[in-house]
Amino acid sequence: MKGVTVLGSTGSIGVNTLDVIAQHPAHYRAVALTANRNVERLFAQCVAHRPDYAVMSDERAAEQLQQKVQAEGLETEVLAGAEGLEKVAMLPQCEQVMAAIVGAAGLLPTLAAARAGKRVLLANKEALVMSGHLFMDAVREHEAELLPIDSEHNAIFQCMPASISGRFNGLESGGIEQILLTGSGGPFRLVAPAALADVTPDQACAHPNWTMGRKISVDSATMMNKGLELIEACWLFDAPPEKIQIVVHPQSIIHSMVEYVDGSVLAQMGSPDMRIPIAHAMAWPQRMSSGVERLNLFDVARLDFEHPDVARFPCLRLAREVAREVTQGGSTAAAILNAANEIAVEAFLGQTLRFTDISRVIEATLSDVSAQAAASLAIVLQDDATAREVAQQHVARLEWKS
Ligand code: NAD
Ligand code: MG
Repeated sequence: MKGVTVLGSTGSIGVNTLDVIAQHPAHYRAVALTANRNVERLFAQCVAHRPDYAVMSDERAAEQLQQKVQAEGLETEVLAGAEGLEKVAMLPQCEQVMAAIVGAAGLLPTLAAARAGKRVLLANKEALVMSGHLFMDAVREHEAELLPIDSEHNAIFQCMPASISGRFNGLESGGIEQILLTGSGGPFRLVAPAALADVTPDQACAHPNWTMGRKISVDSATMMNKGLELIEACWLFDAPPEKIQIVVHPQSIIHSMVEYVDGSVLAQMGSPDMRIPIAHAMAWPQRMSSGVERLNLFDVARLDFEHPDVARFPCLRLAREVAREVTQGGSTAAAILNAANEIAVEAFLGQTLRFTDISRVIEATLSDVSAQAAASLAIVLQDDATAREVAQQHVARLEWKS
């Protein structure tokens, strides 16, 4: 029986993780669940999964949850705040930590899990993007296991030679020529560029193939998601950014590919359902069922591939420039990029910023805040905070007054 802590259990990845755990009650148990402030959903999950701990980041929400848990007679201990999150990421009864908090808020508990030597099931790409070097050092130093949940990175992991899976020794030792990182192109791949300035949050969040949280859905619409994934892949697979090619594949059936020096190209395919990478990473190196419907190739019928349109999606260009900079010198540029993106996406979702101004806010913030060597976590967090302030100023300057 393996104990699993689910950070961000009320979100899209969290709910899928609990679904997989519930399918294997003899082998997995949720020992801790966490959420920001959704009391009702976390309470329902406590009733269904009976975890040892439940954490709400918001103190008042924690009090409300505590009352409900008591009234129900559950033995779940309720904790609050950042300390609670870090505690449940390090519990002795937990072997695996699903890192599924969205954004920079997930960095500290995810890092705590790595430092406690857990198997880290990494969905929270922002944490790795912000602190790549420091995070990977913590994984190595504390002999944590880092298993990618992001479907593309999980696919790449599955296509890697067994000898380097889980150890990430660089591409050369595995005879790998390059990584082909696929992406659907999002909901605006074919929309006329002139129409993009007026798109609404609901249009941006209507992803053609995946159902996800709103922040990552907007990232998919700007293709910043693919940019963040490029940086994520550099760290996970010790790969220089020029060895990672982005391939637009609108059907989202191939989840990424690895090309070898002999010309072989291995792809991982499956229905676009996150329970596949979740079940894979939990059971690795074994396999277990995920509850996902079988892929029917006759229904899929065809697979298309295109170059990404960098003019339409400037976020891709910005992320590639930053990827070069951070993987060469370990700078804070990716933390600045990520922070500015989080602020811009939040403003777009709050309808105070145009869709097409998201990349403008990020570009302006990158040019205003000078990156420095990411020598410590304190420096990364400091540049994250500075970038958020500067990005807010650019949002105010560009504010959508329609
Ligand atoms: P979501 O918005 O559906 O859920 C986010 C979770 O984080 C919720 O449980 C929420 O309560 C919690 N949370 C939010 N803000 C918090 C804060 N300040 N402090 C503590 N907890 C907080 O997001 P999601 O779609 O499940 O995505 C989660 C992560 O997984 C993201 O980093 C995303 O990039 C990554 N990811 C998601 C998918 C997907 O299919 N949804 C795929 C690949 C990667
Ligand atoms: Mg992905």
